[in-house]
Amino acid sequence: MANIREVIDIFNFKGDFVDVEEFGSGHINKTYLVKFNNEGSEQRYILQQLNDNVFKNIEQLMKNVFAVTSYLRSVIKKNGGDPDRETLHYIHTKDGNEFYKSPEDNTYYRAYIFVRDSVSFNTAENAEMFKSSGEAFGKFQRLLSDFNAEELTETIPHFHDTLWRYNNEFVPALEKNASGRLDTCKAEVDFVNKYADEMGKLTAMTEKGELPLRVTHNDTKLNNVMFDKDTNKCVCVIDLDTVMPGLALYDFGDSIRFGASTAAEDETDLDKVEMDLDYFKAYAEGFLGEAGEYFNQAEIDNLAFASKLMTLECGMRFLTDYINGDVYFRTEYPEHNLDRARNQFKLVADMDSKMDKMEEIIKNIQKA
Ligand code: ADP
Ligand code: MG
Ligand code: MG
Repeated sequence: MANIREVIDIFNFKGDFVDVEEFGSGHINKTYLVKFNNEGSEQRYILQQLNDNVFKNIEQLMKNVFAVTSYLRSVIKKNGGDPDRETLHYIHTKDGNEFYKSPEDNTYYRAYIFVRDSVSFNTAENAEMFKSSGEAFGKFQRLLSDFNAEELTETIPHFHDTLWRYNNEFVPALEKNASGRLDTCKAEVDFVNKYADEMGKLTAMTEKGELPLRVTHNDTKLNNVMFDKDTNKCVCVIDLDTVMPGLALYDFGDSIRFGASTAAEDETDLDKVEMDLDYFKAYAEGFLGEAGEYFNQAEIDNLAFASKLMTLECGMRFLTDYINGDVYFRTEYPEHNLDRARNQFKLVADMDSKMDKMEEIIKNIQKA
């Protein structure tokens, strides 16, 4: 790795260098907090080294990130907002580039202003906080509602094309049975197969033009939302590395999948795993409160279904990896992926049984 002080000198930070430390609880990139003194006042920056194991297509990824943030900044300015707080502000290098590629080890660095007076949280302590993250991602959709998503590169092709994953990843894994584990997960395989007919619903609607292509964030975890340190209101969405063209429904569904579950993703006591309707309602209120009027009816009508689909897809990916012999997700014990798959499938079954109620909740929010 390049010397971090030398990397700091590449970027166009204002003032005199004070201090650098590792920062945050992200799992993908290496993040540093950099402090400068600019004419007596402290200026904080975030400097990140990108994980080139996870991201294979970093130059395209950067183009996506910069296209989205510069668009957001112009819309926020036009609306009279504060673009340094309501989205990321990237600092260019001294010679005017958007990022720095270290010739020593080919790693990539980029820097942005630390969102002033903000904090992030790892888990939603209550439904109110979860609602606030729904607002943040809804606002993201609202501000980007006129952005042409076709301008972005699909850096991870077929990311939420569940039927494609079924045909091209799941079924071949069964045929290969590389781990020899197929005998130990027959019930789970049957569970996935039972849903095969539903997997292509959203992609078919997209092809017919019924669902519009939008900017999807694709990593809607709570710690990718910055909250005001005093009011706890959401300030902005960060961590745009996985922005891609996709459906607003994917972001919504994935948020519900992990945020509205009553248990951790690998909880093995399945009696504890349920979809919490209060959390579902809270997130939907936040999300639709911001973006509802920009969505078409087909999008709104499929929010509940998309929550189930994203959960099914995630469970299927865990099961695929279990059958392949744990080659993709990091595991802590041999059955870890199978336990995660069972957990997600319990959630899918629970959502199925609550589908009428979920749809009712969405209808009531839309009426209000
Ligand atoms: P990762 O992909 O590793 O999750 P993130 O971009 O989410 O990387 O950054 C990791 C953490 O660093 C975030 O959860 C947040 O706490 C902090 N962080 C990142 N960018 C900023 C920023 N501009 N202002 C304040 N904190 C930030
Ligand atoms: Mg993050
Ligand atoms: Mg990230």
